[in-house]
Amino acid sequence: AKKPRTKEYTYGFKRFSLLGAIVNSIVLLVGSVVILAHALPRLFNPQQPNVEGMLLLAVLGLIMNGLAFFRLSKGSSLNERVVALHLLEDVLGWLAVLIGAGIMYFVEAPVIDPILSIAISLFILFNVFRNMRESLRIILQGSPAKLDIEEVKKVLFEMEEVDSVHDLHTWSVDGEYNVLTIHVVLSKELTMEDQQKLKNRIRTSLLLLDVHHSTIEFELPDEECVMEGCC
Ligand SMILES: [Zn+2]
Ligand SMILES: [Zn+2]
Repeated sequence: AKKPRTKEYTYGFKRFSLLGAIVNSIVLLVGSVVILAHALPRLFNPQQPNVEGMLLLAVLGLIMNGLAFFRLSKGSSLNERVVALHLLEDVLGWLAVLIGAGIMYFVEAPVIDPILSIAISLFILFNVFRNMRESLRIILQGSPAKLDIEEVKKVLFEMEEVDSVHDLHTWSVDGEYNVLTIHVVLSKELTMEDQQKLKNRIRTSLLLLDVHHSTIEFELPDEECVMEGCC
């Protein structure tokens, strides 16, 4: 995903991680459904499992997955979060097994086993849907989740050289790298030098709003623009 741009992939390969996030989400989705399908019948026909074996496995699993989860949970990209979620699923799963086996060690209550499986699967499904929604927003060219269009306009209108704006588009390449294009109508004619300064000021302000890639087009006050009212 960090590979630089090529002639054909001008944004580089930032969306690769998005692709990974979607694949991971599908794997989690299928996995949760399979677990649900197995656990539901066991609700009505519970069988006492091998409790000592379960306890030992749960402790080992908790230690291994717990370590991996803490290493990954600091990541911020969508895919890192999906993978961390996957590990969290395992951690919670093992924790549930540990608690369940612990209870079953003392009391005869095999129904605990499927109940915990179902609870974990539902929790994971909920998170998968949330991540999926975020991925879809990026694929469908939605405006970046954390970027407020009104805030963008407000910042621009605070500059006295700016009369109005139109043809404002913004989207995210991978959920972190945000792109914006805009037409800015000037309140008066500016020299090329002043235009350059204004452009840099706009770009810097946009960068503070987490827009890393902005394309700014200036227009004269009385210019007629065919892109006005596009889309
Ligand atoms: Zn447009
Ligand atoms: Zn225009």
